Amino acid sequence: MLMMFQIVPIMWRSVRPSRIADMPAVVNTFWLRKGYEGLTFFGQILTPTQQEADRFNAGASADRMSAAMKNHEMIHLRQAQACHDSWLCFYLLYIWYWIKAAWFSKRSVRRQLKHAAYRLNPFEMEAYGHMYDKGYLLRCEGGAQEWRQYAKMSLKERLLQYRANHKL
Ligand SMILES: [Zn+2]
Repeated sequence: MLMMFQIVPIMWRSVRPSRIADMPAVVNTFWLRKGYEGLTFFGQILTPTQQEADRFNAGASADRMSAAMKNHEMIHLRQAQACHDSWLCFYLLYIWYWIKAAWFSKRSVRRQLKHAAYRLNPFEMEAYGHMYDKGYLLRCEGGAQEWRQYAKMSLKERLLQYRANHKL
């Protein structure tokens, strides 16, 4: 029960995305269930277990997969910078894209890809597309913008792009 409210001080004390150099991972079993890895939340990464948190916090000694996971979450930080440097703006837009894909898009597209509303979210497409690229964060230091291209596409076009990106 306590875990449910632990996100309140994180929101309360949050600062603008551009003022954050690194995001620490913290365990929160209420908001993050097992099976999920991490969720960027107002400048911190919520994880379901201490083991997952340690992977995100491993820094330079992280294995390739952990480093990529951290990179993925840090790309969301850069995207929030591009959303008027506001977490609230970023999350509202994120939810809007999710709703649009989940409710207002052709069912035929959704049927072709599991978790389509998540995977074809413009923010996720950029984060998944560049998580193994170590130089990406530095190249978009002022804000990550690639998601804007995906946002302009229809869900069907995004599905084709997704398949090309992941060689499916
Ligand atoms: Zn993500």
